[in-house]
Amino acid sequence: MNGLCATVVDYPSEGIVFKDLTPVFADGAALKEVVDAIVEKFAGTFDAVAGVEARGFLLAAAAAYATGTGVITIRKAGKLPREVYAQNYSLEYGEATLELHQDDVPAGTRVLILDDVLATGGTLGAAAALLERTGAHVAGIGVVLEIDALPGRANLAAHNVVSLLHV
Ligand code: 5GP
Repeated sequence: MNGLCATVVDYPSEGIVFKDLTPVFADGAALKEVVDAIVEKFAGTFDAVAGVEARGFLLAAAAAYATGTGVITIRKAGKLPREVYAQNYSLEYGEATLELHQDDVPAGTRVLILDDVLATGGTLGAAAALLERTGAHVAGIGVVLEIDALPGRANLAAHNVVSLLHV
């Protein structure tokens, strides 16, 4: 699956080297490989899978289906219709807000959070903070690809982070 990751220079802005995983998602064998590998690493430790909009949804839905658990949707600001918790965070290229319905996760639920790429850790840190505000327990964080030159892992030191690939 490593060979399926595309590299796009100066996207979405100058100076950013963007890793594009859409070819991994588009390949049936690769998608199955990444989802099975993540599920295996966290086997038995979670009751639900949270995905971060938008690419995290693809992984979370597949992992939840494979394990008979539910999907928690952590969305960009303004997309969820009911009462939300909101968390601001910094990105490698800008600032953003993530939101989570206040009542989507019963307190005590063990939640595995999934996304495609770990860069600075801002996004997954905000996702973890949102889940903790509901009383959920973050069982772990799984990504397909980690950018080792950025401090994502250090910024998520409180959590068990599993990355399948490193650049
Ligand atoms: P972070 O918050 O860790 O800096 O950035 C991770 C978030 O931004 C993830 O939601 C991820 O989808 C997106 N992201 C940041 N850099 C990249 C990249 O190089 N490739 C892809 N596919 N997503 C990225």
